[in-house]
Formats: sequence, C-alpha cells, structure tokens
Amino acid sequence: MTDPLAELAALRAADLPTHGGRTLAYVYDSALPGLDEFAAAAHALAAPANGLDPTAFPSLLRLEREVVATAARLLGGGVGTVTSGGTESCLLAVLAARDSRPDVARPSVVVPETAHAAFHKAGHYFGVRVVAVPVDPVTFRADPAAMAAAVDATTVLVVASAPSYAHGVVDPVAEIAAVAAGRGVRCHVDACIGGWVLPHADVAPFDLRVAGVTSVSVDLHKYAYCPKGVSVLLHADAGLRRAQFFASADWPGYTMLNTTMQSTRSGGPVAAAWAVLRRIGDDGYRELAGRALRSARVVREGIGAIAGLRVLGEPEATLLAVAGEGGDGTGGVDVFVVADELKARGWYAQPQFAHGASPANLHLTLTAANAGHEAELLADLSASVAAARELGAPEVPEGVLAAVRGLTPDQVTAEGVAGLLAATGMGGGGVLPERMAGVNTLLAAAGPRVRERLLVEFLGVLHS
Ligand SMILES: *Cc1c(COP(=O)(O)O)cnc(C)c1O
Repeated sequence: MTDPLAELAALRAADLPTHGGRTLAYVYDSALPGLDEFAAAAHALAAPANGLDPTAFPSLLRLEREVVATAARLLGGGVGTVTSGGTESCLLAVLAARDSRPDVARPSVVVPETAHAAFHKAGHYFGVRVVAVPVDPVTFRADPAAMAAAVDATTVLVVASAPSYAHGVVDPVAEIAAVAAGRGVRCHVDACIGGWVLPHADVAPFDLRVAGVTSVSVDLHKYAYCPKGVSVLLHADAGLRRAQFFASADWPGYTMLNTTMQSTRSGGPVAAAWAVLRRIGDDGYRELAGRALRSARVVREGIGAIAGLRVLGEPEATLLAVAGEGGDGTGGVDVFVVADELKARGWYAQPQFAHGASPANLHLTLTAANAGHEAELLADLSASVAAARELGAPEVPEGVLAAVRGLTPDQVTAEGVAGLLAATGMGGGGVLPERMAGVNTLLAAAGPRVRERLLVEFLGVLHS
C-alpha cells in the first residue's frame, strides 16, 4: 500500500500552484515565509473541537469573539459571527433580512447586476426574488438612482459591493445605503474580497461607519491570508442579527442552537484565522494590503500599454477585469485564447463571460505575492496577446455553435452533454483539455440559462 500522504502529495502536485502569484484567482498568497505551517499547526490544535456547542468548547467561542472583534475594529463596529465563507455570509445576510420582515409575503432583494452570484444562490435557496439592477456601462459601478427605482414594498435588503468581484470597482455605498435607509430597508455591503484591503486604500467609506449600512461581510480566507473556511458577517447591532440565529426543540435530541448554516463546526478554520490575525497584526496587514494594491496598479498601468487589451472600469482594489480591445472579445484579441496562452506560460487567469454591458474578459486577482514580479506577468501577457493575434479565434464548427445557440435550457440533457464532452475531447475523469478557448466559445454562445444547465450536467459527469 502506498503511503496515503505521499499519494495525496502526488495528487496535489497536479493542481494549480497556491503560492508564487501565478494563480490569479481562487488563492491568496501573502508570500510570508512559514505562514502556512504556522496556520496548519493552529488548525490542527483545534480541528477536533466542535463549535456546535460553545459551552462545551469555550476556547472556540473565545477565538470567534476575538476574530469578530478584530473585524469589527477594522470595519466600523457591529456584532458578528464567523461563517464558513463569503457565500455563507451573504446567504445569512439575506436570510436575516427576509426573516426580520414576516410582514412581507413575497420578499425581494435589490442588487446591482455586478453583485456576487452568492445573492442569486440566496434567492434560490430562500425563495427570495432577486432584482438585479443594471450598472453604469462604463464604470461598472452600481447606479443608486436605478436601485432606488427598483426598491418597492417587497424589498427586504439592498446590496452594494466593496468591491465587486468581477470588475474590482467599489459601488457608491453611501448613496445606496441612503436609499435603503430612506425606505426603511436593510443594506448589506459585500466586502467579502475587499474588506481586508480597502481600509488601507484611498476609497470612500464603505463599511458600518456609513449611515444606513446594516451589515458587512468580509472573507478572512481572502486578503487576511487565512486558510480556507473563514468569513465574518457583521451586523450593525444585535437586533439586526437575531433573525440569523436558529434554534429547534422539535425533536427528541439536544436543542439545536446555531449561529450559521452549519451545525457541527470544526474548530480548525477559526483557530487558524485567529492565529494568523495575531501573527500578521495591524501593521502587517497594512503592509500586505499596500503590496497588493501597488501590484494591481502596476499591472493595470502595464496592461494599458499592451495594444489589444483594456482594463474594464476603474478598479480601486486588487482585482482587474481585462477585455480584448474592441469590446465583445471577438473583435480583436480573443481573451479566451489569451487565457490559454497564459496557461502555457504558467499563469492562470479566470475567464469571465460577457454579461450586461460587460464584455468577455479575464479576471486577475493580485496579491502580495505579485509584488515585485509584475514585469514577468506583463511580459507573458504581452507575448500571449501576440500569440493570440497570430492564432485568431478558436476553431469551433459553425454547426456546433449554431446548435448550442439554438438550445433552450430544457433541451439540455445528460446524454447531450456527454456527446458534447466527447466532441470536445473531454471524455470524463474531470481532465480538462490543455486549451479551453473552444469550450469557452461554446459556453459563451450558450447564453446564461443554457450555460448553467450545461455546467450542472458537467458537474454530474465529474461526480459520477
Ligand atoms: C469571494 C466572494 C464571495 C463568495 O465567497 P466564497 O468564500 O467563495 O463563498 C462573495 N462576494 C464577493 C464580492 C466575493 O469576492
């Protein structure tokens, strides 16, 4: 029998790298030596403990209170809860808003169309209608007047992003929060990705200091560089938070009493986050935020000098959306081909499909690990654009494209997707082809509803 740890290490070797700044989505690298090992040691010390009952494991309650206090100190106060991630924080913000308004029969939330998909998931899970309001087509910032017009008697929550994941721009939080307050509605600021960086950037106030903001989410597994599984949801006061909590005495076992959607909760993530926050400290985070912000600025300026690419909007944080010059991503340089060329040069950039006024683009998350290495990224990006120009658009048979364009969601079947996968050389086992531009072109042609169905079927194949 092989050593399971050796086997695990071998499996992990085939993943995208989590260090070195070459994976420009999903992972966040502080580049601080020894931080992983330190966090892992803290994780191991608390992983067997169960956050299900804070009276049985008071250490976890203490750690959570201290983690929340650190977040509150940074983001304008409030009371909070540690959750498993940004999605859970956003879900709970919507749930609490819904359940605090039993008078509203068919509740809705008003979000900018650039809000994270977690809000659509919340709508889907909790039976809340999501009213997605178009944003400014040039800046990609939410439009407070349009949001105000979308608020009605069914609205239980209004959302702003600081910043948005897709474009890295900060919505006009004060104006949106004023709209919400004026209508007696809650306002959530999704600072999941920016909450640990923006306090050190030159941006307008966006947190609980802003009048009308009732809750803020921030993910510690992003720019607090903690191991995955930790986010904080802050509410302005305990009254606003109450509807988030759940108790059930309707069974013969222990009375279930939960702060989050989880019940049994590993002590590992919160302990690791607590230890990492302590170790890095306020000065350390200021330094790390500065590095990531400067790196994003350098990369943004560098991209401005690459003919064929443009950065969408005016990103103020550490995220960039890079489109092909000419608008729809098919005119000049095909960004999906650029992504493949970057991959061949050892970088992962995340394709984002066209949506609303936003053309197809590549998402880049810059972290402290990119600081000082911007020239390598820009040189490879430049070379990738040149190669993409040479190659042109990926070859996808027009008949296949037309067929996908003509699909309705209900026509997407498991068999049909199996056929498509075979046609694109993706038989199964979850191994993606080296070059994804053809697949991305097909998915782009599918449009959002059909794309969702295709990918859900694909997930079924991966998990079969
Ligand atoms: C990452 C992110 C989320 C979701 O967080 P997960 O930790 O991936 O669940 C929500 N909102 C924004 C703005 C994000 O960047």
